Amino acid sequence: MLLTISTTHQPAHELGYLLYKNPASLQSFDLPFGKAHVFYPEAGEEKCTAALLLDIDAIELVRGARGRDTAATVDQYVNDRPYVASSFLSVALAQVFGSALSGKSRERQELADTAIPLQATISVVPSKGGDQILRRLFEPLGYEVRITKYALDPHFAEWGDSPYFTLTIEKTCRLQEMLTHIYVLIPVLDNDKHYAVGEAEVEKLLLRGEGWLAQHPERNFITSRYLRHRGRLTKQALERLADENLQEAEAAEESHAVEEAALEEKISLNEQRINSVVSVLKSIGAGTVIDLGCGQGKLLQALLDHREFTRIVGMDVAFGALEVAKRRLRFDQMPERQKERIQLIHGSLTYRDSRLSGFDAATCIEVIEHLDPYRLTAFERVLFEFAQPKTVILTTPNSEYNAKFESLPAGHMRHKDHRFEWTREEFRLWAEAAAGRHGYDVRYLPVGDEDPKLGAPTQMGVFTR
Ligand code: SAH
Repeated sequence: MLLTISTTHQPAHELGYLLYKNPASLQSFDLPFGKAHVFYPEAGEEKCTAALLLDIDAIELVRGARGRDTAATVDQYVNDRPYVASSFLSVALAQVFGSALSGKSRERQELADTAIPLQATISVVPSKGGDQILRRLFEPLGYEVRITKYALDPHFAEWGDSPYFTLTIEKTCRLQEMLTHIYVLIPVLDNDKHYAVGEAEVEKLLLRGEGWLAQHPERNFITSRYLRHRGRLTKQALERLADENLQEAEAAEESHAVEEAALEEKISLNEQRINSVVSVLKSIGAGTVIDLGCGQGKLLQALLDHREFTRIVGMDVAFGALEVAKRRLRFDQMPERQKERIQLIHGSLTYRDSRLSGFDAATCIEVIEHLDPYRLTAFERVLFEFAQPKTVILTTPNSEYNAKFESLPAGHMRHKDHRFEWTREEFRLWAEAAAGRHGYDVRYLPVGDEDPKLGAPTQMGVFTR
């Protein structure tokens, strides 16, 4: 089992300071299950590669397993464990590169804190689910992933591929970050820890997963595999990750408040938007409301406070946002009667969906500008032709008003995920056409402080059938 880590950050041989291992010498370490050797195949100014070779003692592995629940078969001796990357690699990483794994460097702390171009190659990685799993684990973390497949037997191509791969991941990041990802994810691929899993493993996972695992789309898979499918531990870890997510979401919202709402000033525009939507909903006497693209559920929360809204549904395409909404609303602690009023559903506004039908009103607050323009036709049909609420309240930024945001460079949009921002004229053109095609009337309301020339920061269209 071989792991190599390379950098081209110059002077490249300073990688030795980060790993606390001198590039000039070969060093060997005794581990409970064999030996680890560290050496540098290259250590120049421009490129440096460190290698960690694990030499696992296959016999000791079996003898050392006394008392473990292993059937006494030849399987114990004849298997792939000594040769493939597994939880042994993580143990070795922690032992041999412990300081680097915790982000410390006595001689070059600044370099340890700097994102540098890094590449790691691991051979051989087992993945019974195929190379897709490798991609699903590493790509969301921003790695460029390259995978070499191997035939089960090079002489018999018809036998197909083996479940072993050489994995190369590449990214500009801190060394600690990359080592941590390897530390957590390799045992996940291996799916068979060589030691018993207990509460301590939950702590280890949360410690090493801090700042990335909670947002990883495969966090359930990773957690359950890391904890060897131990249901109670997995549940406990996932709950704590969700807490972390909530805190992160709140922090993100604050930074969103820097990005968008800080632009949008004083009394948060967001609050004004919510208040306007609630008053329009009340004025039309809506009892059942679906919030499309509900995000983390701020409007839902406001609606819950008004008893006239008897059925409230939040829908979003981002599962993570729904999870945050659920926790924010304290859904699990809600009294039954309250719970009956609210429901969260996962779905997309660009697909026809019968769950969206039958409401007095649909709200779609600051969502349309997140859709790619070519999806607008699908969105329009899903909303006005199939869901057909009696009233639709739709808000979107008024791009004319952007000129008033001093910190926003001319021509920029308010948020990096916005696919477009409309002037009042552009919004009206779209809204009138869409309403006309589906038998709705539309009127417009400003939200936020109105400028005599530029209009209000948010524009609202109220469509009625
Ligand atoms: N309405 C909320 C969130 C606005 S952010 C608020 O005012 O605070 C935009 C939201 O639209 C995000 O939560 C995003 O996940 C959601 N979204 C984007 N595309 C979507 C789609 N196709 N279907 C449903 N929701 C979508």
